[in-house]
Amino acid sequence: MKNKNTFDRKPETDAIRIQAERSSFQEHSVPLYLTSSFVFEDAEDMRASFAEEVDRNIYSRYSNPNSTEFIDKVCALEGAEAGVAFASGMSAVFSTFAALLEAGDHIVAARSIFGSTHSLFSGILPKWNIGHDYFRIDELESIDSLITSKTRVIYAETPTNPAVDVLDLEKLGNIANKHGLLLIIDNCFASPYLQQPIKFGADLVIHSGTKLMDGQGRVLAGIAVGRLDLIDRIYRFSRITGPSLSPFNAWILSKSLETLGVRVDRHCENALRVAEFLEGHSKVNFVKYPFLKSHPQYAIAKKQMKAGGCVVAFEVKGGLNAGRRFFDAIKMLSLSANLGDSRSIVTHPASTTHSKLTPTEREEAGISDGMVRISVGLEHINDILQDIAQALEKA
Ligand SMILES: *Cc1c(COP(=O)(O)O)cnc(C)c1O
Repeated sequence: MKNKNTFDRKPETDAIRIQAERSSFQEHSVPLYLTSSFVFEDAEDMRASFAEEVDRNIYSRYSNPNSTEFIDKVCALEGAEAGVAFASGMSAVFSTFAALLEAGDHIVAARSIFGSTHSLFSGILPKWNIGHDYFRIDELESIDSLITSKTRVIYAETPTNPAVDVLDLEKLGNIANKHGLLLIIDNCFASPYLQQPIKFGADLVIHSGTKLMDGQGRVLAGIAVGRLDLIDRIYRFSRITGPSLSPFNAWILSKSLETLGVRVDRHCENALRVAEFLEGHSKVNFVKYPFLKSHPQYAIAKKQMKAGGCVVAFEVKGGLNAGRRFFDAIKMLSLSANLGDSRSIVTHPASTTHSKLTPTEREEAGISDGMVRISVGLEHINDILQDIAQALEKA
C-alpha cells in the first residue's frame, strides 16, 4: 500500500526512478528482499508495529520492500492513490470483488471480459449469491436498464480480449457516477503507459502484471490500484487471506516497468504495421486494431489511448479450416496463450482461451470461429510480417 502521489515528474521517469530506500551498501540497483519476516528493535517497537502506529514491514504476506516499490511505480503510472500487489491477475480480480462486495450484491459487466473473469462471475461468485448481468460493448445505453438496487459495480476491460473492441471510458465513468456505482477497469490490454482509466472516472484499476508489465513472459503477477479507502479494504482482505505477490516476482516486475514505455512504443509500432499489412491482404476477411481508421471505435481509441496496443485480431478467409492451416504453417511466431510478450504470439480464441463460452456468448463477445489473435512482439517487423505472409499463402 502507499499514499504518495508524485505528479511533479513524468510517469515514465517515476517508473525508472522510484526505488526502495538504499541500504547501507549504497547499491544502485534495488536488492532482492527475499525474507518472509522483519525484525524489531524492542518490545515497544514490535507492539507499535502490530498496532499499525508505525508504517513498516512486518511480514511479507502484509508487505515487502520489493512489492512496495512495484506498487509505488504502478500508482505513479496510473495516477492512483494506493495499490495492493497480488500473485496473479486473477487473484487481484477475485480479491477486489471478495473484499468490496456483500452476499446478494450485483455486478454489471461488459460481455467481452477475460475468460477466467467470466468463469468467476458465473461459477464462483454465485456461491455468495452475487449475480451479474452483461451489456454488449456496442450498447452502453443498455447499462441503465441492467442496474438494480443490488448493483454495486460496473466492470469492463478495454481494449477487449480477443476482439480488441474499445469501450468509451468517459461514458462508463459518467454512468457509474450517475448511479453512484464503483467503476472498476481491467487495464491489462492497454497498460498504464497507453491509458489511465482513473482520469475518466474509474475508482479502481486492475492489471495482470503477467502481460505487458513483465513483457517477457517470465512471471505471474497482479495489482489493483485506485481510491485509498477501497484499496485499504482490499489490502485488509489480502493480508488475511494471503494472495500476496512474491518478492522475487515483484523485483522482476519493478525492473520491467523501467522499460515499459520503450517496449510498448515498439509493440504498438509493430502491431500497427501488422494490422496495415493484413488489411490489404486478399486472404483476410477483416482486421481489427484500435488505431486502424477502419476500427469501429477508432475515434474513442484516439481519445483515450496513446497508441493502439500490441494485439491485432483478424479472420482468415475460409473459416475454421483455413485458420487451422494458417496456424500449422506458422514458423517463427509462438502458438501460445500469453500476450504482451517480447515474442510474437498467435492464438485461436474460439478453441482455446474462450472455449468455455457458449457459441452465443462468443458471438456476443465478438469472437468468430475463424478469428485469430496476434500479440505482436518486439522482433524485427520484417521477420514478423514475413512469417505471417508465408502462413497466409498456405491457409
Ligand atoms: C491474463 C489476464 C487476466 C488474468 O491474469 P493472470 O495473471 O493470468 O491471472 C485478467 N485480465 C486480462 C484482460 C488478462 O489478459
